[in-house]
Amino acid sequence: MLVVAEQAGPRQELLQLCMGEGYQATPVATPEMLLAHPKTNVDLILMVQEPHGRSLDLCGEVRTMEAFRSASIMLIAPTPPEPEQAAAALLAGADDYCSFDQRFRCELRARIRVHLRNKRMRDAIERLRGERNNLRSRAAVDSLTGALARRALFECVEKALNAGQPFAVLFADIDHFKKVNDTFGHAVGDLALQRVAETLSKERRQGDVCGRYGGEEFVLVVSHVSAHEAQRVAERHRRAVAGLRLAAQGGPERITISIGVAVFDPASPDPNVAALLSRADAALYRAKNAGRDCVLMAEPYVAPEEDAGESAMRQWLRENTR
Ligand code: GH3
Ligand code: MG
Ligand code: MG
Repeated sequence: MLVVAEQAGPRQELLQLCMGEGYQATPVATPEMLLAHPKTNVDLILMVQEPHGRSLDLCGEVRTMEAFRSASIMLIAPTPPEPEQAAAALLAGADDYCSFDQRFRCELRARIRVHLRNKRMRDAIERLRGERNNLRSRAAVDSLTGALARRALFECVEKALNAGQPFAVLFADIDHFKKVNDTFGHAVGDLALQRVAETLSKERRQGDVCGRYGGEEFVLVVSHVSAHEAQRVAERHRRAVAGLRLAAQGGPERITISIGVAVFDPASPDPNVAALLSRADAALYRAKNAGRDCVLMAEPYVAPEEDAGESAMRQWLRENTR
């Protein structure tokens, strides 16, 4: 913690009080030193209010400094505290206000302790939050291919769906991949997966997403495209993968993918991610049957017909629930 006091007497006394409690305290003789050489990792700043000084302004300045972002500031009045002064200090940027008067020493000690305890808790929460974010970002990425992992991929598709703008999902599946594993071994299979993911990622436009749906299946989310454009993008990806050469790494001469493309049309929206992906998957299935190494477009989404009873119920609700 820092003890900021221009007069040597109160500065020494406060330092002793802190050290007596077992805290490490560094004296700062002038506010200018505090502003000019901000220390990092400060948990608490004890600032003695100078009789004619500009302690309140200083509080405000320190409060906005990045280096002291997580430090608490306690303004300490040499005399018993006046309520108006306490309010002014708190509004100026101090986190607490207490008196240095003998009668308040016990309270001052307790307040210092509470601030340090709160700071420890804030630090622990910050650390946990950092670890959680780390884990989250690691979980969002497929460890083998670096593509987005399945759950994060679904979240992306869901976000695009909720945005209500046209976009496409490209469902890509490596052709005869089992044979690659069987012929060249699992390690080469893994390498092929990595190279395919890398190729799909490289080919995609900024803002588009490439995720691993599972096994040897990848999904690309392509934003703001018509059906015609989506087909062209898919063709580009297909050709890029067909251009991969893995023989030098002990793999097959050629590796190909088949792609099913479903376009989300806000005028006839798929009700959820599963419905959209299943249209793309059905197109992929047809692409496999059509001989593989090709792109096929999915059928547009058609909402199921309402039956007469349901429609009458809707009409009744419309007319009676205004
Ligand atoms: P198709 O052209 O019809 O898609 O045939 P396929 O052989 O690609 O499809 P199939 O579903 O029969 O085989 C997929 C293979 O992918 C089987 C599985 O062992 C392999 N696979 C899935 N995940 C991995 C992985 O992480 N690494 C490796 N090396 N292989 C994987
Ligand atoms: Mg498959
Ligand atoms: Mg396959």
